[in-house]
Amino acid sequence: MAIDAPSHVPFVDLAAQYSGIKAEIDAAVLGCFESAEFVLGSHVQAFEARFAAYAQARHAVGVNSGTSALHLALLAAGVGPGDEVITSAHTFIATAAAIDYCGAVPVLVDIDPVSFTIDPAGVAAAVTARTRAIVPVHLYGQMADMGPLVEIAAAHGVAVVEDAAQAHGAEYFGRRAGSLGLAGCFSFYPGKNLGAYGEGGAITCHDDGLAQQLRTLRDWGATRKYHHEVKGFNYRLDGVQGAVLGVKMAHIEAWTDQRRAIARRYDEGLAASAVRTPQELPGRRHVYHVYAIRTAEREHLRAFLAERGIATGIHYPVPVHLQPAFAELGHGRGDFPHTESAAAEVLSLPMFPELTPEQQCRVVGAILEWSER
Ligand SMILES: *Cc1c(COP(=O)(O)O)cnc(C)c1O
Repeated sequence: MAIDAPSHVPFVDLAAQYSGIKAEIDAAVLGCFESAEFVLGSHVQAFEARFAAYAQARHAVGVNSGTSALHLALLAAGVGPGDEVITSAHTFIATAAAIDYCGAVPVLVDIDPVSFTIDPAGVAAAVTARTRAIVPVHLYGQMADMGPLVEIAAAHGVAVVEDAAQAHGAEYFGRRAGSLGLAGCFSFYPGKNLGAYGEGGAITCHDDGLAQQLRTLRDWGATRKYHHEVKGFNYRLDGVQGAVLGVKMAHIEAWTDQRRAIARRYDEGLAASAVRTPQELPGRRHVYHVYAIRTAEREHLRAFLAERGIATGIHYPVPVHLQPAFAELGHGRGDFPHTESAAAEVLSLPMFPELTPEQQCRVVGAILEWSER
């Protein structure tokens, strides 16, 4: 690259975020080392209380990943071998994998092409006598159309388990992600809107008994140490992650507002460009985990931006039903047309609270230049 090449615009910049909160993080983490609270403990408990309130839920149960959160929530919802669980074809593989871990079959449904979230009409058509749960995915940070989904679930007596891994603080008519279903499942993978310094996750719920069941399942099925009521798992959240997440809770709303302001600037800057920008639907608070634009010439645009030092992502290039790992579901190309066209056309732009106006101008300028080529 030429010496006067512009500096790189990263897709995310976790080091920039750390530098802004270094003193708080360092003190919290060292505190864990000094109190030797390495697994669960007081930092995790304090974080769980704050996170539950944030998600408008009565309880939050910290676990070691978003995938574990989904697995335990589905088990607690009674999902087991032979059951069917309806979810979106356009999601990260973990959603389908967690259903599979329960011995159940993921029944995939196409998305609404505007919101990228599961189509409620498709869900209604997919319900059978074997359906045990519905897992809407609040993809990219915008909540699925929960009103009709909750109604369909209630009409058939099945549970709604929200995959809120990308939707910390997202809202649907004033109700937060993780508060509308039987349970809400969050990921704190470092790049998520609320990220740990390693793996982490949580399940939110309102029911006291369910919360107790989840706490038992994450810790070897033990109600007291070495007394195992049920077969459980080692899915506990680390103390260090609880401490890091506790510090970050004080910043999550400001970071979300920054993400939303960056999204508005992209919306305005790209309005006259050749790409389609994402839409925030009425009643929604989109938290922009991902800012996904669409173009039929995605690969060309991606290369054009890469040449200018601008990093992008694709969420996700291969839908669940076309993944070799889920060939057993028997699907083929053409089964979920909206999902397949999204997979072919979406491009995620740099989106993180610390993205500077200068960096964002370069991204917008490059897309406008590409549009006019
Ligand atoms: C990240 C993610 C998960 C899994 O979370 P992990 O913490 O990585 O296990 C599940 N579903 C969706 C939609 C995700 O984005």
